[in-house]
Amino acid sequence: MIIYVDMDDVICDFQKAFNEATLKNPQIKYPQSQYGFFANLEPIKGAISAVSAINDCPKYDFYILTAPSPRNPLCYTEKRVWVEKYLGYDFVEKLIICSNKGLLKGDILIDDYISGKGQESFEGKIFQFGSAEFPNWDAVRSELKI
Ligand SMILES: [Mg+2]
Repeated sequence: MIIYVDMDDVICDFQKAFNEATLKNPQIKYPQSQYGFFANLEPIKGAISAVSAINDCPKYDFYILTAPSPRNPLCYTEKRVWVEKYLGYDFVEKLIICSNKGLLKGDILIDDYISGKGQESFEGKIFQFGSAEFPNWDAVRSELKI
């Protein structure tokens, strides 16, 4: 089974950094356009071990699937830097940066959004991270049996 996992607010804590940056510098409307924003996100609780477990499980063919912030050219590099920092180089080879997630073939997409970046046309099943069904990584792991 091909399984994709989103980055922002699924593996890395975009919202926390966004809220902190907005409090600190309210005049900056898009803190995600600042140098270092994406590289310095904190991991979501349980994400690193869960993603490693999916990757290690022979029944899953695992990829990270993230849409870019196209107005921030740095985000393409910083996402890659983040993946190596927290998951290691092997995961860099599993990183797909794509603005239309519906173009990718696969069975499962774990994402906090079910539309907006092509999720609505993804042909597999979407596990909406943060929803009542999948509020956290423990719930996802239990569904995936890993
Ligand atoms: Mg996201």
